[in-house]
Amino acid sequence: MVDLLSLDQKDMVDFVSAHGFPAFRGRQLFQWCHEKSVFDFGRMTDLPKDFRAFLEKEAFFDRGELLGESLSDDGETAKFLLRFGDDCVETVLMRYDRMKARNRATLCVSTQVGCAMGCKFCATGQGGLVRNLSVGNILDQLNHANAYLKSRGERPVSNVVYMGMGEPFANYEAVLKSVRLINAAKGIGMRRITISTCGLIPEIDRLAKEDLQLTLAVSLHGANEPLRSRLMPINKRYPLAELMAALDRYIEATGRRVTVEYALFDGVNDRRSDADALADLLAGKLYHVNLVPGNPVCDTGLKRSSAQKIAAFAARLEKRSVPVSVRESKGNDIDGACGQLRARHRREK
Ligand code: SF4
Repeated sequence: MVDLLSLDQKDMVDFVSAHGFPAFRGRQLFQWCHEKSVFDFGRMTDLPKDFRAFLEKEAFFDRGELLGESLSDDGETAKFLLRFGDDCVETVLMRYDRMKARNRATLCVSTQVGCAMGCKFCATGQGGLVRNLSVGNILDQLNHANAYLKSRGERPVSNVVYMGMGEPFANYEAVLKSVRLINAAKGIGMRRITISTCGLIPEIDRLAKEDLQLTLAVSLHGANEPLRSRLMPINKRYPLAELMAALDRYIEATGRRVTVEYALFDGVNDRRSDADALADLLAGKLYHVNLVPGNPVCDTGLKRSSAQKIAAFAARLEKRSVPVSVRESKGNDIDGACGQLRARHRREK
């Protein structure tokens, strides 16, 4: 049985052609599945009966089962817990300016069940890697979010960020295929798609050659080698100096600005000297810094920085002409940080 959710248009044409059906049936199937989000062969009204009977026998949609849904107190952030097979993943929907005409709905998708990168502040990283998600598993998070929005009379997801559970570049092929599918079939422009990595250098170099208009975001969280290694073990494999050289290469090759994610933890990486070290790395280059209040995860001993410290850190960067914004941390009241809802679900099982 073939999971149609993981197939792009060419795959679908190849699949149906290999079974003796004309290529245009593959294109019709693609429209039903990825453009119209119809996952019931019986509702694909322009497909002939023999073709539908073939699909019933040979194909399926590996849809995630919605296990849980929580909504933040302000109603802007919804978090979904989806089960694919035996595994649960989270996806987070963040609405901005929901009551205004030009509203925005950003979906934060997961790319792996668990994660092998072991970042110290991250609930997902504490549990290790279980498996990569398939292309269809990644796309189906978007299908669920769009169904949720449609049921409330709201516009579909406008932006997708690959910042949920897992390291996207550790599942590179599936992630890139899902990016292309989202762009081709879900009406989301490349410029509205962001992939965030903890700093896998070979894949950064690989992405530079893909010629995609998406945004690359890199989690730094520390601007010197010992501090970054303490927070992010990946720094021992790909040290900061080599990572910055790779990012400079990426900017040179693509001409695209790179977003630097920096989560601030009280007394750990939020001092004036940390801001100066970060500015030394980035000043005068095509970077934009997103400062995020560190999301406290149980048992790590890390605490989020105060609003005053975050403002002072931002001002220090601005003084060095480093473009910076402070991102609000949405959904804290619903276990907003990556992997927290899943971790709670596992504890309660
Ligand atoms: S922050 Fe991202 S890369 Fe690091 S452990 Fe968590 S999911 Fe993995």
